[in-house]
Amino acid sequence: MPQADRLGEKTLRGIPVSGGVCRGKVLVLGKSQQNVPSYNVEASQIPAELERFENALIQTRREIVEVQQQVTQAMGADHGNIFEAHLLVLEDHTLIDEVIRVVNQQQINVELALKQASEKYMKALASINDDYLRERASDMRDVIERIMKNLLGGTDHFDVRRLTEQRILIGYDLPPSTTALLNKDLALGFATDIGTKTSHTAILARSLQIPAVVGVPSISQVLRSEEEVLLDGYNGLVILNPTDQALYEYGQLVKKKRDLQTKLGGLREQPAVTLDGVRRPLSANIERVDNATQVNDYGADGVGLFRTEYLFINRESLPSEEEQYESYRNAAATLRPHPIVIRTLDLGGDKLLSHLQVPTEVNPFLGWRAIRFCLQQQPTFCAQLRAILRAGAENNVKLMYPMITCLDEIKEANSLVAKCKDELRRENIAFDEAMPIGAMIETPAAAIAANHLAKSVDFFSIGTNDLIQYSLAVDRLNEKIAHLYEPTHPAILQLIKMTVKAAHDHGISVSLCGEMAGDPVLVPLLLGLGVDELSAAPPLIPSTKYLIRRLRLNEAKELADFALHCQCGQEIYSRCEAFSKKIAPSLFEN
Ligand code: PEP
Ligand code: MG
Repeated sequence: MPQADRLGEKTLRGIPVSGGVCRGKVLVLGKSQQNVPSYNVEASQIPAELERFENALIQTRREIVEVQQQVTQAMGADHGNIFEAHLLVLEDHTLIDEVIRVVNQQQINVELALKQASEKYMKALASINDDYLRERASDMRDVIERIMKNLLGGTDHFDVRRLTEQRILIGYDLPPSTTALLNKDLALGFATDIGTKTSHTAILARSLQIPAVVGVPSISQVLRSEEEVLLDGYNGLVILNPTDQALYEYGQLVKKKRDLQTKLGGLREQPAVTLDGVRRPLSANIERVDNATQVNDYGADGVGLFRTEYLFINRESLPSEEEQYESYRNAAATLRPHPIVIRTLDLGGDKLLSHLQVPTEVNPFLGWRAIRFCLQQQPTFCAQLRAILRAGAENNVKLMYPMITCLDEIKEANSLVAKCKDELRRENIAFDEAMPIGAMIETPAAAIAANHLAKSVDFFSIGTNDLIQYSLAVDRLNEKIAHLYEPTHPAILQLIKMTVKAAHDHGISVSLCGEMAGDPVLVPLLLGLGVDELSAAPPLIPSTKYLIRRLRLNEAKELADFALHCQCGQEIYSRCEAFSKKIAPSLFEN
């Protein structure tokens, strides 16, 4: 695809995280007032709209008072008094009444009404030749920006559920909770200033099959809403004014990819078996119950990782045991007789609850996350454990703990499982007495101590997304150091090897459910290292299966043997790439 910009074309480059090509108008999500969302509001919704305004005013007042107190403490009352003028703007009924009038009369959203009303007043104030009034215009601008931020949820993102037309979304960032809400019929693709391949945002984009590019420097500043672009999620490009030649080339690429998918679709009923006859279960990672149908459609052998956090975010309260039970049972029933591995809540890091008072942490990935959170929030954890145990009564369900770092965590979680089983027995509620329990190996501590952990669980699943970030001290969300996030780093391969050995020494199986499992370059290496099972996003299943069916396990073992003795991650990667390209060249044509 285009290497250099052609006449009139402008190409912005970033990290490709979800394949596909789309073309359309962009919607820039941001804090700038130019990007204020605009939509009509039904008459019956106007009171709710005005209530949002009222709440934003209260919140803004609270913030200004807080800033005033801090400034007064630090710099004295004179400086603090400056904010009196800001508080006065909030009490100015001319502006507030005007916003209310516009919402009522024009039936438009409050952000747009605020923008219109404030522009009108600022223009009037600025045109008067009076220093005091000009100052007031500047105070007003500050306060309006605060109100707007609070209206937009304080996150600089507008509610993507309000999209009514097809758009390519552009933002500084798109948190996983927002990405989970995207409707792929309207959100054609997205590009962000920051982010990496293994952020949960990128993982969701792949699972939703929405083309996405992240880490495009300043894209949210460079593009304007309504500009037309072409987004290439295979190569990480966003192209403004694509030439006819580029459009033709992309047409060819899309056709090639479609033909490949048709060819791979023929493998749906075929097993993931190597040329030398070794069967390796290939399962899928899902985030939502309705993804379970997709898992069958793509021909996976069940679910190797159900990220249950998405049942908990984007809502006002926690899901009850009953609601969770219904969800888990439905997903498991869709997959029967295949297994589903349900991972207990992995909140924290980049996945946060809006309704729990979880304090902001300086290092959220090293903080109150996953099993740590659950062991301290036992009522929440036990409700989930009971729901999972019950879902296994008639289905093939396995339970898995995330982010284990030591044996004590497994023991404590296992004793809570035993307690939940006791309760269910007493209550005469059906559940699976013999449900297998696994631990994720995604911290270096767990990999190194895998020998001890293997005695207390029935299986391991290696979470390389976290294992890599924790071992190499590379934040999995930070595009500035994405080049250091190296799956083939010799240390990572040693940790995988140690985990496999510990599992096999204790007669338990080991799966791998990080993003490495769906990367065609790395699949032969992982099988060569002895991983028993792989689990990847559903759309990646056909290509992974194709690759497995074209390799010989003994050759993959030779590749792994080379890798385990090589000191250079880049050299290992190149060797893996050459290996995969040789056995499955069609997977690499971009
Ligand atoms: C992992 O860390 O590799 C993993 C599969 O879990 P998550 O991506 O949800 O953190
Ligand atoms: Mg993880």
